Amino acid sequence: MATAKVKIAARLRPRLPGEAQDDAVRVCHSEPADAGGSFTGIAVTNPHDASQVFRFPFTSCYDADATQAAIFEADVRPLVDIAWGGVTVTIFAYGVTSSGKTHTMQGTPADPGVIPRVVEALFAKSASPPLPGRTERAEIAVSYIEIYKDEVYDLLVARENAPKLPVRENGAGTVFVAGLTSAPIESAEAFERVYATATARRSVGATLLNRASSRSHAILTLTTRVTTTAGNGGQTVREGKLNLVDLAGSENNKLTGNDPSRMAESSAINKSLSVLGQVVHALNTGASRIPYRNSKLTRILQDALGGSSVGLLICNLAPGAKFRGDTLNTLNFAVRTK
Ligand code: ADP
Ligand code: MG
Repeated sequence: MATAKVKIAARLRPRLPGEAQDDAVRVCHSEPADAGGSFTGIAVTNPHDASQVFRFPFTSCYDADATQAAIFEADVRPLVDIAWGGVTVTIFAYGVTSSGKTHTMQGTPADPGVIPRVVEALFAKSASPPLPGRTERAEIAVSYIEIYKDEVYDLLVARENAPKLPVRENGAGTVFVAGLTSAPIESAEAFERVYATATARRSVGATLLNRASSRSHAILTLTTRVTTTAGNGGQTVREGKLNLVDLAGSENNKLTGNDPSRMAESSAINKSLSVLGQVVHALNTGASRIPYRNSKLTRILQDALGGSSVGLLICNLAPGAKFRGDTLNTLNFAVRTK
């Protein structure tokens, strides 16, 4: 089997205040499995039938008390280093609404998640001295889109002025979002200001379009351009990219009734998530045909996922028995992508 290009991890969130104490999900660290040998992964139990346990192996899995810092150090920092070296990296948070995707990607000011930690790490790199005899100049820029009902919107532009952006392909076969803003950022603080305004816009747009933000995919892209000048004046440029993706909720969208607008929304989400699963599976198994074109989400990320790029897909899980069906769906999705 080919080496996985997209690593699949799982993260269980803690029970929230007010949630029933009927946890159906356990994280197992090297626990003896029924069939012998040790097992690391997620076990889903059935509160009504103790004999029924479904086990899903994960090399990387995080318990409810895992810190944001632990996830960053183990699974994210290595990808930041790779991106800084000039490679494209993509990190996804997948899971049902309320499973912890936004907590994982964005976090809170008191408990920052992947996005602010990545930005801090990038600026720390840009401030660190280059090898002796060289000078280094780093430029970091951000763009931020949301994909709703298969249409692309620029979150760096005020909503009244934000048209649907077309996805195009240039002569070299590179897929890009035409007219997308890319804003240079000089510091982590400057990023925070841009990001806060854009994220607020996401929920404003949500209200205007009569939906919740959990019905859209948000892709934050950080590009890095590092120019190194050697003692003899020779220059090299390394261009890297990090796509940080907070996916739409993966819950069973059949529950949304027969409102046509809601149905279109649900089918767009179902389709794009299922195509994402097929694309990741094709990449991880070294398939020759990758079905990028079957959804806008994967089409936009085509260059980010192909070639030498690498990724991480974090499957977020809620512990409660009421999520059990959705949790099994998320874990089956994860299994199918390997
Ligand atoms: P999603 O984005 O998947 O809909 P959220 O990230 O909004 O889910 O999480 C739902 C709730 O659970 C939020 O109140 C969030 O703060 C909380 N939460 C999620 N993950 C954790 C965690 N690991 N630790 C503490 N609280 C969490
Ligand atoms: Mg969310």
